[in-house]
Amino acid sequence: MCGVWALTTYDACDIRCSYCASYAQGPSEPRVSADEVRRILEEQLPAVPREHLICLGPIIDCYTHAEAEHRVTRAALEVLMADDRDLVIVTKGTLIERDLDLLAGYGKVSVNVSLPSLDPEVLRLIEPQADSATERLATIERLADAGVDVQLHVQPWIPGMTDAREMVDVADGRLKVWFAPLNVQNPAVARSGWGKRFTQREVNEAYVAEMKRVGPHPNVVWSRPVWLGDDLLTLSQWGVTAARCERTGEPLEADPALSRRTLPDRTGPLDDPATVEARDLASTSQLLEAYAARRLPIDGMAKLSAHIRMFAGRYPERSVESEGPHRVFDLVRFVEAIDDPRLDVGSLVADGPVVHARFRISGEVVAPFADLAPGDSVRAEIISTYRFDTHGLVIEQWIESELHMIDNPAQLVDAEATSTSTTAVT
Ligand code: SF4
Repeated sequence: MCGVWALTTYDACDIRCSYCASYAQGPSEPRVSADEVRRILEEQLPAVPREHLICLGPIIDCYTHAEAEHRVTRAALEVLMADDRDLVIVTKGTLIERDLDLLAGYGKVSVNVSLPSLDPEVLRLIEPQADSATERLATIERLADAGVDVQLHVQPWIPGMTDAREMVDVADGRLKVWFAPLNVQNPAVARSGWGKRFTQREVNEAYVAEMKRVGPHPNVVWSRPVWLGDDLLTLSQWGVTAARCERTGEPLEADPALSRRTLPDRTGPLDDPATVEARDLASTSQLLEAYAARRLPIDGMAKLSAHIRMFAGRYPERSVESEGPHRVFDLVRFVEAIDDPRLDVGSLVADGPVVHARFRISGEVVAPFADLAPGDSVRAEIISTYRFDTHGLVIEQWIESELHMIDNPAQLVDAEATSTSTTAVT
């Protein structure tokens, strides 16, 4: 995204922070060996444009405890540096000091060392397996002394737990500091205690208040609290009129795929049933498009409540409840398994706080899913109901689906030709 590539060397993170958004906490196993990562990178790097940035560890920390033994990240660094690539490393592992011999003197790497608080008691609660604040600050100092471009990465900033003024004081103008707020809209975080404790708006408002309390300082950057969706402070509330890529400064509107959608108005008169139903119909339509376009985390997640409950059945039956988005994830995985998934919405019907949807997703299977094999042509007929809360977020979802094999792939074309367009009935 935005000309940045993510390189993930481990399949899970053994640091296990309570706010982790990676969906992958557990014993860290290297995704490939050190020798394999060298071979794969040498093979694949020519396809990565030279002006693009390669980020190690943005999803799963690249200096997990296991890296001390496996040295996969170090092997990757050696290849990337030999190829003269622009690099960013995100980590909270002081093990990075082991690779100081590589990092010092390589002018095209920035290192972000994550540290959300200086308070040992807070860190014991939220990231008990991580190195202490004292150790991480010492690592930052040693990297800086060696001439490495390093910054104190205060992400996540957490209301009541991160004292930004303390962080700025400890950096003392010498070290770069970067703040970004806790993201409770990520589904993994939303289902955790953090999602139950805060809404994103509460986090963002506290974050902005903290920024004003601390005031501007040299070498201190506050990232905008504009992440996903319309439950956040809007750009104009933050004081800017257009979104720009943090890295390149390019307007995000320049790339329609990256621009924020025009979202349904949530501030209309909620006592007007027609307004509420129109809003919820628009949100449902947006969700279905997000599923089919595989853009749920970007376009659709803002419509889902952090407290959503999922039911694998027909509305209003709640007996087949599954806590967690198992059925939704099936749909997400199904869409990921087919090439260029086609969405045909048969009907959307609003009825008070719920919207009933009938839709079909079809295409050719390119990755194994359930009993389907690559090359199969398939369509999923789906009946789903979404119940909205008063803020316009989906608080409950019912879903039923039937998979149909299409023996003659030409039927896919027929289905497309005869499909109906989105129908909204209020
Ligand atoms: S270090 Fe990063 S990837 Fe690892 S558990 Fe903590 S937040 Fe998640």
